[in-house]
Amino acid sequence: MFEPTDALAAPRFTGIRTFARLPHTTTLDGVDCAIFGMPWDGGTSFRSGPRFGPEAIRSASALLRPYNPAQAVQVFGNLSCVDRGDSPTVPGYITETLGRIEEYVQPIVEAGVVPLGMGGDHSITIAELRAIAKVHGPVALIQFDSHTDLWDQYFGLPYNHGTVMRRAIEDGCIDTARSVQAGIRGPVYAPEDVDATASYGMEFVPWRRLARMTPEQFGTLVRERVGTGPAFISFDIDFLDPSFAPATGTPEPGGPTSHEALEFLRALTGIRFVGFDVVEVAPQYDGPGQQTSLIAANVIYEMLSLLAVERKNR
Ligand code: MN
Ligand code: MN
Repeated sequence: MFEPTDALAAPRFTGIRTFARLPHTTTLDGVDCAIFGMPWDGGTSFRSGPRFGPEAIRSASALLRPYNPAQAVQVFGNLSCVDRGDSPTVPGYITETLGRIEEYVQPIVEAGVVPLGMGGDHSITIAELRAIAKVHGPVALIQFDSHTDLWDQYFGLPYNHGTVMRRAIEDGCIDTARSVQAGIRGPVYAPEDVDATASYGMEFVPWRRLARMTPEQFGTLVRERVGTGPAFISFDIDFLDPSFAPATGTPEPGGPTSHEALEFLRALTGIRFVGFDVVEVAPQYDGPGQQTSLIAANVIYEMLSLLAVERKNR
């Protein structure tokens, strides 16, 4: 059982930073969930910076404690988790980077361990989904994001953080009939962009719709869509309002609070998760309290909590 350093024995500000002060190891034996970084921002279209996302999230995660009262579940100490370090990336070479991330994630999935990736800009999600789909087949995508990331190209080229979900669908990594995109808002290029999610057969829950739903209603909608098959949560930190998460590449005002975001996530119990990621944290734009990295660390904690709840109920 891999679990964090005891903060009642060694102060939280001591030691080498890993996610939640978990052991840093590349072993997959006896591991339920492997957390890793993908330090990459070559797919951004506006502000760059998420190559430093993993280290910032790790630093902010030192405050996480083992028991989650909101889910009444023991997270650490029940779920065996490690910080596997960072995937390889090649600055400036997106296709090479995506290939190396896929190779890095593949053995994690093959070992039956749940991968939890810290971005990195959103372009890297396709590398994780390719590795996961090879083992599990197409997955249900539950995407929290202020954008659909379904555009066909940027600057005439296919790989970018704004095209990642379209490429993943074309690659057969996503079971669109079981998928949901939630939180979308802000201006787009044309009216067709608003219909993009539904045109692929996915459930479209723009923020103006989600804002009128309770977390319980959202949880029911997602569970009905996803069913019993494998599912993946991709959480773009720009899902949150920029007042709560300013440190991101393409912020969209008028979104959820940290509380609302955590509640919508907590509602997703009863789903078979085979992977997660949290992307688009660009810490250079954060406030002095590092609020974006802090909420990103807590989003990851809620993902781990969902795994722990499933394990408990199994
Ligand atoms: Mn986004
Ligand atoms: Mn995105």
